[in-house]
Amino acid sequence: MNEIKKVGVVGAGQMGNGIAHVFALAGYQVRLHDVAEERIAAAMSIIEKNLARQAAKGNIAEADAARARAAITPAVSLDALADCDLVVESATENQAIKKKIFGELSNILKKDALMATNTSSISITGLASATDRPDKFIGLHFMNPVPVMQLVEVIRGIATSKETFETAKIIVAKLGKTIAVSEDFPAFIVNRVLMPMINEAIYTLYEGVGTVEAIDTGLKLGANHPMGPLELADFIGLDTCLAIMQVLYEGLADSKYRPCPLLVKYVEAGWLGRKSGRGFYDYSGPVPQPTR
Ligand code: NAD
Repeated sequence: MNEIKKVGVVGAGQMGNGIAHVFALAGYQVRLHDVAEERIAAAMSIIEKNLARQAAKGNIAEADAARARAAITPAVSLDALADCDLVVESATENQAIKKKIFGELSNILKKDALMATNTSSISITGLASATDRPDKFIGLHFMNPVPVMQLVEVIRGIATSKETFETAKIIVAKLGKTIAVSEDFPAFIVNRVLMPMINEAIYTLYEGVGTVEAIDTGLKLGANHPMGPLELADFIGLDTCLAIMQVLYEGLADSKYRPCPLLVKYVEAGWLGRKSGRGFYDYSGPVPQPTR
């Protein structure tokens, strides 16, 4: 297998910008693409701010921040990823969107290039089937915020080769992160455990057991969680939370994964959490205010 030097990132949302950031900091050349051009520009400025913050804190050298910034090239079209050795897809959590991207990448990338997805829940085997190279396909599930969080879940599809798996492990180590290997089941390990808890917290709110503040304070001080579950849901994005619950519900065919109707309603309203300015909290002022 060729050495991985150039990495494409598809989807420049909150996860895509973090993935581009950590690859660039680890010395890779990065091409960052999004279907919405303005998201690429927004991601570039977020990356710049985050690198500057890390340098100001003394966590990284100024020169490394500057080198990382210079290593990321915006890519307006998917074609600009043609010479990448690896592409990490981090577009919206939707199987049809992801399959379309991988179908197109199959025609654009070199035959020996690897493909990875940052999906939170969708079948790796299913996404791999949309490509011309299921053996060179793997799940690399980063955590939010990517520059801060230590873990990358690594998920092999049924056809993923040993060589691809070994290369993925080397890449994650080079990023300075730790892996947890999960089998290819709906939502893998982290979200199989985390998302039902978040969904239950939303049920607790829906049924009037407690207010937003009481639920979040309860779990922070009562279970020693660094963030309350509703705060965390807003941070992840309520559309992503709902998509993951739907994959769990349909994939495991068990009613215990039924998405809370209040979560469905919020997503219908476009209240997606932090990224849209409103979710279980209102983010329009200097301090987030509970909405219920
Ligand atoms: P986001 O909404 O911030 O960003 C998604 C981006 O994908 C948007 O910028 C959108 O324009 C882009 N996009 C949509 N269709 C596209 C296409 N056809 N081609 C290129 N770009 C396209 O969402 P996010 O939180 O960054 O999530 C992205 C992925 O990461 C999802 O698969 C999600 O499940 C996964 N993930 C999210 C979290 C989290 O905490 N939010 C954690 C781990 C993994």
